[in-house]
Amino acid sequence: MNDTAGLLSHRPDFDAVIVGAGFAGLYMLHRLREAGFTARVFEAGDGVGGTWYWNRYPGARCDIESVDYSYSFSPELEQEWQWTERYPRQPEILAYLNHVADRFDLRRDIRLETRVTLAHFDEAAGLWRIETDRGDRCTARYCVMATGCLSVPKAPDLPGVERFAGATYLTGAWPKDEVDFSGLRVGVIGTGSTAIQVIPQVARQAKHLTVFQRTANFSVPARNGPLAADELQRIKAGYRERREQSRRSLFGIPVALPDAPRRTRDIPPAELDRQLEALWAQGGAMSLLAAAPDILVDAEANARVAEFVRRKIRATVQDPEVAERLCPNTHPLGTKRLCLDSEYYETFNRANVTLVDLRATPIETLTPHGVRTSASEYPLDAIIFATGFDAMTGALLAIDIRGRAGRRLRDAWADGPHTYLGLASAGFPNLFLITGPHSPSVFTNMVPSIEQHVDWIADCLDYLRAHRIARIEASASAQAAWEAHVAAVADATLMPQADSWYLGANVPGKPRTFMAYLGGLGPYRQRCDQVAAEGYAGFELTPAPTTA
Ligand code: FAD
Ligand code: NAP
Repeated sequence: MNDTAGLLSHRPDFDAVIVGAGFAGLYMLHRLREAGFTARVFEAGDGVGGTWYWNRYPGARCDIESVDYSYSFSPELEQEWQWTERYPRQPEILAYLNHVADRFDLRRDIRLETRVTLAHFDEAAGLWRIETDRGDRCTARYCVMATGCLSVPKAPDLPGVERFAGATYLTGAWPKDEVDFSGLRVGVIGTGSTAIQVIPQVARQAKHLTVFQRTANFSVPARNGPLAADELQRIKAGYRERREQSRRSLFGIPVALPDAPRRTRDIPPAELDRQLEALWAQGGAMSLLAAAPDILVDAEANARVAEFVRRKIRATVQDPEVAERLCPNTHPLGTKRLCLDSEYYETFNRANVTLVDLRATPIETLTPHGVRTSASEYPLDAIIFATGFDAMTGALLAIDIRGRAGRRLRDAWADGPHTYLGLASAGFPNLFLITGPHSPSVFTNMVPSIEQHVDWIADCLDYLRAHRIARIEASASAQAAWEAHVAAVADATLMPQADSWYLGANVPGKPRTFMAYLGGLGPYRQRCDQVAAEGYAGFELTPAPTTA
């Protein structure tokens, strides 16, 4: 145990317990060990990788370019690892994260197949008491939740789901063994980012695919392809600058904002079409948003870009009725995460694919043989639920977390999450959240956002140790001010207009509150740096008792 333990009379088992071994938990462990802290990671899965361990569904891949959706903390790792595609597939990202675990010798401090069930703050001892579903009990000075924003799949909430006699699959907990849909009648429920990846793949294999769509989504072609060796070499040669640009950007990708951006609505139609055609040909959802970020605040500008995408759908899908059903018209473009696809719209030209519009003909029930809507019964051998996640708060609230005076996080957050900077919550000392609610997180390329949080937390623990501080806690007033800012920024955009998971709208009964910070990664980063430079402004710091 290092000096931190010596600051207090109660010695913890670990300086820090980290929950989760995805991108966030792995890097947190590495940073803390480098700084001389002791740490233990608990991970529910039987392997590391988080999102990329659980989501093995056909077609699963990244929507950010591989060279940017990767750690920047180690220039050696950056140079060694060879990405093979522009947008990597799930197995490649999982292999990368396993390589990281081995390369930095992380596994010895990770306990797999172990779910943290309870984390209680013991005020007298100034420690977190942690328990797991395997009966482990341990104490730690700090508890870091690296539990993921999209790690709790939403259970299928359709009537009759237990009666269906065929096979069922949840994309967020996909089996490890390959699933063969050849010769089968398959149904996919959902048309979010996940389904949009699954559908083209399964359509190629299944005898027949029926897609059950409740809300049509905007999707942009990925234009995926192999990464040429010389292109990768060129990127690697300029990596430091590229990473720096991502860190300063709005979305965590290396796209600089123009110095004097033109309002999209002021661009003459023919010129805007040319620009959009170029972006469409280039591919990439984030690139489209980054090229015209005002479309998230200006309804008229948004409508023009949305209409461009609808024209693309109509030009791609041969049956005009099907094309019209695929045209999103319930929310502005980008207010639900813009999807990235490989031949999604083209898939509806296949003879073996049917689109069912659940707004016109809702599902009444699942039957032993398939799905019955108000119009018809669709016989199925297998159903894939691509129905999303209890995002942002689901994994945190699944743990019995109690802070000062035994206050439960579930009660403290009954009306929605409460955080300061998305990093900490008032009433819960020495508890840190990685990419917690009210941070840029899911609105960015998540890897640079994760790295920024991990670095900030590691630097903070270093500061606490150096200044002999036993406890750090977000102040209620700083938290309220930050939340008001997060809400004001969101309200100035079109984002709250969509019934999205950003707002918790996809989970019945979940409080409706905008959970991501939309001010951009670069400005957010500056704010966090400033808080640290001012001696952790907005946090209450309690010095360790002096020993006589
Ligand atoms: P996760 O990867 O979710 O890891 C959290 C881990 O914590 C999980 O392994 C979970 O088992 C574990 N855990 C949770 N609770 C407990 C507990 N109580 N006890 C023990 N273990 C626990 N982001 C992008 O920026 N670009 C993308 O292209 C992209 N694609 C995505 C595709 C899919 C299908 C999904 C679901 C998400 C995608 N994301 C993407 C978001 C993605 O979640 C993040 O990019 C990133 O992988 C998150 O890493 P993490 O470590 O924070 O969380
Ligand atoms: P999602 O965006 O929440 O989509 C879930 C889909 O299921 C929606 O179409 C939803 O319809 C539908 N649905 C949910 N419950 C339903 C019900 N009871 N009946 C009928 N339809 C129902 O979830 P996701 O697709 O898993 O994506 C979540 C996030 O993960 C993404 O936004 C993205 O951030 C990330 N992701 C990224 C990628 C990538 O490209 N790399 C891939 C997958 C996921 P409604 O819209 O009507 O609710």
